[in-house]
Amino acid sequence: MNIRTKLILSVGILTGMIILLVALSVVNLQILTATEPDSPAAMPGLQRALLWISVTGGVCILASIVLLVWLPRSISKPIQELTHGIFEIANHNYEKRLDMSGHEEFSAVADSFNRMAERLAEYRASTLNDILAAKKFLEAIVNSIHDPIIGLNREHEILFINKEALTVLNLKREEVIRHSAEELSLKNDLLRRLVRELITPSEKKEPLKIYADNKESYFQASYITIMNTETDTDEPQNLGDVILLKNITEFKELDSAKTTFISTISHELKTPISAILMSLQLLEDKRVGALNDEQEQLSKSIKENADRLLGITGELLNMTQVEAGKLQMMPKITKPIELIEYAIKANQVQADKFGIQIEVEYPGEKMPKLFVDSEKIAWVLTNLLSNAIRYSKENGRVVIGAKHEDGTIEMYVQDFGKGIDPRYHQSIFDRYFRVPGTKVQGSGLGLSISKDFVEAHGGTLTVESELGKGSRFVIRLKG
Ligand code: ADP
Repeated sequence: MNIRTKLILSVGILTGMIILLVALSVVNLQILTATEPDSPAAMPGLQRALLWISVTGGVCILASIVLLVWLPRSISKPIQELTHGIFEIANHNYEKRLDMSGHEEFSAVADSFNRMAERLAEYRASTLNDILAAKKFLEAIVNSIHDPIIGLNREHEILFINKEALTVLNLKREEVIRHSAEELSLKNDLLRRLVRELITPSEKKEPLKIYADNKESYFQASYITIMNTETDTDEPQNLGDVILLKNITEFKELDSAKTTFISTISHELKTPISAILMSLQLLEDKRVGALNDEQEQLSKSIKENADRLLGITGELLNMTQVEAGKLQMMPKITKPIELIEYAIKANQVQADKFGIQIEVEYPGEKMPKLFVDSEKIAWVLTNLLSNAIRYSKENGRVVIGAKHEDGTIEMYVQDFGKGIDPRYHQSIFDRYFRVPGTKVQGSGLGLSISKDFVEAHGGTLTVESELGKGSRFVIRLKG
């Protein structure tokens, strides 16, 4: 029944009752006017009429009370049901359905509502399935990566970790997922190092040495910050970090095989080169017979090349010592001037050959002494002075000197040669690196070994250089 029918029916019933009541009242009045009210003949008609009026009046009152209660309720009930249904949907209860078969106008609304709830339920099921499928897919990818991988959110809680990472870190999945990496690292040394490097990034990251499955493995950690660029704001959002451990054991083993090989070869080469140099010395000795000009020129050239070869084998041996971690320090108290004099002596022949003037800057006042492995620091100064001479123009000048300030001793070598492009100020300290276009012969090892030697003493080796103006290499050591 629709609302209109209900209203017509209610109004109809009430009107009918009122008409009936009025008719009975009229009948009663007619009886009263037609007869003597007190006469016995009028009494039965009057009583009957009064009875009918009372019954009809009572039914009228009852009907109006029923209509008064039923009518508003029957109109508001479906609205309430609809409001409740919408509320349920808003609370993600997509199973809610409306049944308004008794309310004609609302049954169409109920049908639409039920259709909408059905669609929403279907949509939720499909998105939930999609999300679960995507999650499973990502987990499968993470687990199929053979290198250990750990994903952290912004609060450094572990979101995902693959089997390899669990094995390497000796952890159990249920103990780590959704747990703070910082808290877990209190009981796990390896994780502590990874978290420390993640929080305070440094440039030089030593590989991690992990003893697992009865063998030593090396891992290089890389830290990737995950940024969400698809945000409403212009600023990309930091979502967290991924720690990736690359297994470099194989490279490490090859590298150490290479180091051993170079070390053995350099060692083996030193003896024959020394023998060549000794023979040359004998040749220069007039007692074994004088050499003609051409032979003398040849022996000079052989000596120069044998010296270079000896220098290179020395550099290679030093490098292998550093790489194998076998650098042995024998520190003793040394005066800086002694080291400078050693370097000048070792380079004098070369400087004379190119007509280069070596100037010494040494303060007159008392210079503090150094506590260093003098052989190694002398080697560094010799190498820097040799570079300064080799990379200077002929008949130029180079300066070697020392000064001290606040307990730090600075030893420097300055030239006024071609200088170094600022782009290469960092790379010249890398192994085998040579500035592109360098014509002077060399191995690209001297500066990297020098840096390692100085840093092994807790000092620094830096460069200040400008193209066309020259370079200044500075060693800083504690006095
Ligand atoms: P090498 O001199 O044997 O090549 P080094 O490690 O000593 O190796 O130097 C690395 C590179 O740095 C050189 O190849 C050269 O290009 C550049 N370099 C070093 N010292 C100087 C200098 N004093 N002036 C200009 N360039 C230099």
